[in-house]
Amino acid sequence: MGRPLIIGNWKMNGSLKGSEALIRSIQSALDAQGEVDLCICPPFTLLSHVGSLLAATEIKLGAQDVYHEDSGAYTGEVSLPMLKEMGCQYVLVGHSERRQYFGENDASVAIKVAATVRHGLTPVLCVGEELATRRANRGEDYVLAQLMAGLSLLEGEVKEIAIAYEPIWAIGTGQAATPLQASAMLRAIYQLARNKVPAGQVRLLYGGSVTPENAAGFLAAEFVGGVLAGGVSLKGESFAQIASLAGSKTYV
Ligand code: PEP
Repeated sequence: MGRPLIIGNWKMNGSLKGSEALIRSIQSALDAQGEVDLCICPPFTLLSHVGSLLAATEIKLGAQDVYHEDSGAYTGEVSLPMLKEMGCQYVLVGHSERRQYFGENDASVAIKVAATVRHGLTPVLCVGEELATRRANRGEDYVLAQLMAGLSLLEGEVKEIAIAYEPIWAIGTGQAATPLQASAMLRAIYQLARNKVPAGQVRLLYGGSVTPENAAGFLAAEFVGGVLAGGVSLKGESFAQIASLAGSKTYV
C-alpha cells in the first residue's frame, strides 16, 4: 500500500506563537522521519505561518476545508488556488464536524473532492457512521453510500486520493474503534473505491481517538495506511511518536 500517511487536524485551535512551539516540539521528538508522509492541517488563518515553519522540513501542509469555486462573491470562503498559493498539498473534505455543524452534505462533498483533484491537490475524503447506525448493522452501507457519493463527480486521471474512515462515535470521545473494525471498514472502502480510482492511488486512513498507545495496533492492521489525528496532533511529542511508529511500519 506504499508509505503511510499521518495527518494532524488542528481543528479550530492554534495561534501564531503556539504553532511555532508545536512544530518545534514535533520536529525535536521525531525520529529520523523514515518512510512516512506527514501532514499538518492548521486553521486557514495559520496556513501561511505554519507553511513557512514547515518549509525547511519534510512535513506537508493541508487545509481543513475548501470551497469549490476558484474566486468570486463567496464571502467567507477559501478557494483551491488560494490554498495552492499557501503551499497546501492536502485538503480535508467532508469532515464529520463540517457535516454536523455546517451543512456539508454528500452533494457538496462530491463537488469539493472533484475540484480538489482537478487542481492537483489530494482530497482527504472523510466518511463515518453514527453509533446508532453501526448498532443497527447499517454502518457499512452508510459509509459506502457516503463514499460513492463523494467519488461520484471524479473524472479523468486521479493522481492521489486519501479516504479517512472516521466513525463519528470515535471522534474526540476517547473511544477509538478497534483495529479490526477499522480494517474491515477500510477493506470495504478499498474494494469500492478502486472501481473509481486506480488501487495504487488510494490511501486509506483511520481516524478517531488515535493515541500513541493505540496507534501501533491501527498501523499494523490490514488496509490501514495511516491515521488522521485530531486532539493528539496538538501535542507535539505524542504526534511525533505516532509518526515515528508509522515510519517504522513494515507493510506486507
Ligand atoms: C478528527 O477530528 O478527525 C479526529 C480524528 O479527532 P480525534 O483524533 O480527536 O478523535
